[in-house]
Amino acid sequence: MNKVVRVYLISEHKDKNGELVSYQDVNKLLWELQNQTRMIKNKTIQYCWEYSNFSSDYYKQHGSYPSEKEILSYTLDGYVNDKFKNNNDLYSANCSSTTRNTVKEFKNSKSDIIKGTKSIISYKSDQPLSLHNKSIHIEYIGGQYFANINLVNRSYAKEHDFASTMIRFKLWIRDNSAETIIQRCLSNEYKISESDMLYDRKKKMWYINLCYSFSPNKNELLDSSKILGVDLGVAYPLCASVYGEYDRFTVHGGEIENFRKKVESRKLSILKQGKNCGEGRIGHGIQCRNKPVYNISDKIARFRESANHKYSKALINYALKKNCGVIQMEDLTGITKDANRFLKNWTYYDLQTKIKYKAEENGIKFKLIKPQYTSQRCSKCGYIDKGNRTTQAHFLCLKCGFECNADYNASQNISIEDIDLIIEQELKSGANVKLT
Ligand SMILES: [Zn+2]
Repeated sequence: MNKVVRVYLISEHKDKNGELVSYQDVNKLLWELQNQTRMIKNKTIQYCWEYSNFSSDYYKQHGSYPSEKEILSYTLDGYVNDKFKNNNDLYSANCSSTTRNTVKEFKNSKSDIIKGTKSIISYKSDQPLSLHNKSIHIEYIGGQYFANINLVNRSYAKEHDFASTMIRFKLWIRDNSAETIIQRCLSNEYKISESDMLYDRKKKMWYINLCYSFSPNKNELLDSSKILGVDLGVAYPLCASVYGEYDRFTVHGGEIENFRKKVESRKLSILKQGKNCGEGRIGHGIQCRNKPVYNISDKIARFRESANHKYSKALINYALKKNCGVIQMEDLTGITKDANRFLKNWTYYDLQTKIKYKAEENGIKFKLIKPQYTSQRCSKCGYIDKGNRTTQAHFLCLKCGFECNADYNASQNISIEDIDLIIEQELKSGANVKLT
């Protein structure tokens, strides 16, 4: 599994005499490296085009494409990389990452460019600096995290009195989860992979999008045939159960809804106040006048974010407790079957994504099924009828009399292996189905 965490950098760079180099000088150098990265990328695209034209001419003459190695005596990205060997200041492994990624990008979009559905790639000046995985060295000293990052090549380092090809930064870690990740990278539990370094214009700071990977826990205890069906429902935002079990996991959605209502009513009153607001907010346009309102929207988003984390975590713990090797959910992309769900879709999508990540981290397989009739089908006898749903929250099978909470019934259906195929078959045969 591959993931990314953003970490801000504070320059702590010293020259070979141990003198601190000003951050302005470090910034200047990094911008120069960005500039060179841009130049390398744009030239790489140029070389790729030249080779691609040559290659199609060759095809016209010979009826087959030439082998890169025979013509260039390298692969295309090796050939391009060789062209940049001695005319830039980038650390050589980073330089080859840059060319390799650019050649890959060219190859991926070549057919679209020829078709005309994409324009020729051209890189702007704020290019991320590619960092080879071996270019990043993290340290923990005196309660602080540092990174020594290989950024310049040897000749640059020598010319400019650097102690090495590395520049030293203090890491500015914003939250606990980021710190946990850094600690795991340090203990080699997580492996750092190729990452990007960028400049944040607003914060006026450099940061790395640190990529790291880990192999998901192989959880030997889990039963790969035991499926936890998870319904993102109406009465409960989350309802999960194992087929045939009365026991279930539910989340009562009142929490988010109440918070939203409370906050929205405040939002309304602030909007009204906007007309006669205080001095400080007058005369700076509507954006400023209603500023507190935007903060409130942020507040709801943050609340939802932390609620979704909490719910997904609790759900995964339930799955682990039940030894479920599989979590099955409905595929919510493009859902239209019921307007109420559709409106909530975007928050659900975030919740589903979090569940997926956490499941995979714990070695639980995550499966999506087509959301068709899972809420109208009786999970006990398989009878499909719109009339089975007496209200949004209540399910009563008109055939066998099975009665329960509607979200629980849906989760029972979703906990059946290949339920979407089964329902398709049932609809085809039509025997146990009443569609209105
Ligand atoms: Zn039934």
